[in-house]
Amino acid sequence: MSSAVNRRNVGAGYRHGGATKVHHPPPTLNDSLDGEVQAFLIDEDQLHTYDDLTKVNPVTPTTVLKCLQARYSVKVFYTHAGCTLVALNPFQPIPHLYSLEVMKEYHCAPQPQEFKPHIYIVAEEAYRNVKGQVEPVNQSLVVSGESGAGKTWTSRCLMKYYATVAASSSVVKSQDTVERIERRVLDSNPIMEAFGNACTLRNNNSSRFGKYIQLQLDRCQLLVGASVQTYLLEKTRVAFQPANERNFHIFYQILAGILQLGNVNFSSSSDESQPCNLDEQSKDFLQRAAELLCVPAEELQTCLKVKMLKAGKQSVHKPCPQTECSMRRDCLAKAIYAGLFEWLVTFINNSICADKSMWCNFIGKLSFHSSFNVCNFLFMSSRSPPLCSPGVLDVYGFECFNVNNLEQLCINYANEKLQQHFVAHYLQAQQEEYVSEGLQWSFVKYQNNQSCLDLIEGSPVSVFSLLNEESRLNRASDAKTFRVRLEKELCDNANISWDKFSKLPHFTVAHYAGKVNYQIQGMVAKNKDPVPPELISLLQKSDNLLLHQMFTDKEDENLSTKELSKVTVVSKFKNSLESLMKILHSTTPHYTRCIKPNPECKPLTFKKEEVITQLEACGIVETIHISAAGFPIRIPFKDFIQRYALITKYSNVKSGSHHVEVKAASNNFLRQEVEKLLRVVLQRRKAFDLSHNLGSEKQN
Ligand code: ATP
Ligand code: MG
Repeated sequence: MSSAVNRRNVGAGYRHGGATKVHHPPPTLNDSLDGEVQAFLIDEDQLHTYDDLTKVNPVTPTTVLKCLQARYSVKVFYTHAGCTLVALNPFQPIPHLYSLEVMKEYHCAPQPQEFKPHIYIVAEEAYRNVKGQVEPVNQSLVVSGESGAGKTWTSRCLMKYYATVAASSSVVKSQDTVERIERRVLDSNPIMEAFGNACTLRNNNSSRFGKYIQLQLDRCQLLVGASVQTYLLEKTRVAFQPANERNFHIFYQILAGILQLGNVNFSSSSDESQPCNLDEQSKDFLQRAAELLCVPAEELQTCLKVKMLKAGKQSVHKPCPQTECSMRRDCLAKAIYAGLFEWLVTFINNSICADKSMWCNFIGKLSFHSSFNVCNFLFMSSRSPPLCSPGVLDVYGFECFNVNNLEQLCINYANEKLQQHFVAHYLQAQQEEYVSEGLQWSFVKYQNNQSCLDLIEGSPVSVFSLLNEESRLNRASDAKTFRVRLEKELCDNANISWDKFSKLPHFTVAHYAGKVNYQIQGMVAKNKDPVPPELISLLQKSDNLLLHQMFTDKEDENLSTKELSKVTVVSKFKNSLESLMKILHSTTPHYTRCIKPNPECKPLTFKKEEVITQLEACGIVETIHISAAGFPIRIPFKDFIQRYALITKYSNVKSGSHHVEVKAASNNFLRQEVEKLLRVVLQRRKAFDLSHNLGSEKQN
C-alpha cells in the first residue's frame, strides 16, 4: 500500500464519559479480510445511534439523510462517514462538547476512535500519525463546507485541541520574557478574523480569506510554534459591500487610516481638460486622510485626480474623469488594506513561528519555500528524531449569491480544487490501488469534477485564460469581447452555459456543489487589479513607517509594465493554490465535511433539502460505499517489514493459498498482532512474494 493511513476500524462501538457502551458488535478480522463490514438493517428508532454511516444499510442519500436528521434531533452533531467526519452545525453553543475534560478523554484514550464521533478523534488521529510508523508523516486537516457550515469554528476547535494537548511548558522569548506559545498561536485567530472576516448574507462571521496554519511540533510532539499562509483576501469589500452585507469587522471596532478616504467624493469639471472638483466636505476628508497616511494633502489630491502617461521618454499629465477618480480612490483604500493584512500575517508569523535554531537542532535539513512562507521540512537524518506538523486548512466556503463576480469565481474555484484533492486522494487513488494490487473490487462510480476545473483553469482555452488575455489586451469593450469569446471558444464544455435573454450578461458554471451565475460586467477590470504607480510612489514617500515599509520592497517593483500585466488576480491565485495543493499532496489528509443544516442559521433546525444538496455535492454516499467496502488498515509494505522484521528470527512464514503460519514467536501478544497484520497484508498482496522479502530482510 502506498499511503501510510491507519484507518479507523469502521465497526467499532463507542465509549464516552468513562462508561463503555458498545452498540454494535465490532466486525471480526474475517469481516475486514473479506472486504465486507457487517450489515445492519435500518431500525428507524435506533437511527440516532448509528455513529458511522458505513453501518447504515442500504447506503442511499435518503437513509444517510435520515440517520443524520435523527442524530441532529437528539443533539448529536458528529458522525463518521468512513474516512471523513460529518459535522452538522448546531448554530448554538454546546460548551460541554468541547470541555477540557472531553479533550483529555480523547487524548488519553488508547483507542479514541472507540469513543463517540468527535472532531477530537480527527485531531488526535492526525496527532498520533505525525510520529509515523517509521518516519514522521506530515498531516493535514482539511475542513470543507459551504459558507456558514462551521469551517472556521471547527478549525478553532482543532487549534485549541493542539494548544492544549501539545502544550509545551513555555518559550523563552528574550532573557527576561517567558511567553506561552500556545496562547500566542490562539490569540492570532481573533486578530486575523477581525481583519479578514465580515458579516455576509450567509454568515455573520464569514471568512473573506483562506488560511492554512501549520503547527510546529518538536520531537516530543510539543507545540513550539506555528506558521500561517493566507490566500486571496477579498479586498474589494473595503470599497464595496453587497446590499445588507458589511465591511470587515475591524472597521466597526476601530475607525481610522481608509474610512476617511471613502468619504471623498469627486464631481466632474465643466471643462474636460481640467481635473475633477471636490466639495468642501470632501476636501476636509481628504485633508484628514492625508494626515493619517502621513502624505502631503496636495499630492494625494493630485494623485487621485491626475494620471501620468508615458509617451516615449516624456511624461504627460492627464486629468481623470470622475469615475476614474473614484476608482483610483478605491484602489488606494484596497491596496492599503491588503498591504496591512499582509503585514499583519507576517507580523503574526514572526511572533508565533518557532525559533529556527530550535528547529535546526532537531532536523537534518530545513528549507523555506520562498514564495509560500510555509516551512517545508526535509528529514534527512535518521538519527536525530525529526520534527513534523499537522496543518489546518480553513478556506472560504462555496458561495452562490444573486450577483456573483470574480471573488465568487475564485472562492468556488478553490473549493473545486479541494474537492478534486479529495476525489483524487480517496475516491480515485484508493480504488485504483485495490485494482492494481489484484484485489477483488467493483469500482464505485463517483462524480469527478475534473471537467469543471478544465473549464475554469485548463489550457489552452479556459475561463481564466480568456480572462487573462482580455486583461492584457486592455480593450475598452472588454466585457463584451470577453463574453463573445467565452461563448465561442468554450461552447463545447458541458459545464458552462448562457442565458441569452438575460439583461445582465453572465455565464453559468455547473460546479460540483451547484450551478452559479457569474456576472461578466467588471470581471476583467477586477482581474487586472491595477494600483496606479503614482499612488504607490506617494505611499512610498509616507512618513508613516508602517505604510512606507508596506509599499517598498514589493516583489512587483522589479517587474516591467508588460510583466505586471501578466500578474493578474486569477494567475496569482492559481499559483498560490497550486502551492497549497503540493503541500496537501505531501501530507496524510484528514477530511471533515461541515454541513449547514438550514440557510437561516437557526439553532437546531434541520432542513432536508438544504442538507441533501450538500451531501450530494461532496459525494458522501460514494465515500461511504468505498469506506465500507474498503480496507480499514493501511500500512506501507516497507514500514511493515521494517517494523516486524523481528519475527523473522522466530517464525517460519508460509504464503500462498491465503494461508499463513507464524510459529514460535517468543512474545504471545506480538505473535498475535503480527499474525493479524500478516493475514491482512497477504490478502491484499497476493502477488507479493512475502517469503522472499522476509528472507532478504534477514540477510540484510
Ligand atoms: P465561511 O465560509 O463563510 O467563512 P464557515 O464555514 O467558516 O463560513 P463558521 O464561521 O465557522 O462558518 O460558522 C458559522 C457560525 O455557525 C459560527 O459563527 C457559529 O455561530 C456557528 N457554529 C459553527 N459550528 C459550531 C459548533 N460546532 N457549535 C456551535 N456553533 C457553531
Ligand atoms: Mg470561515
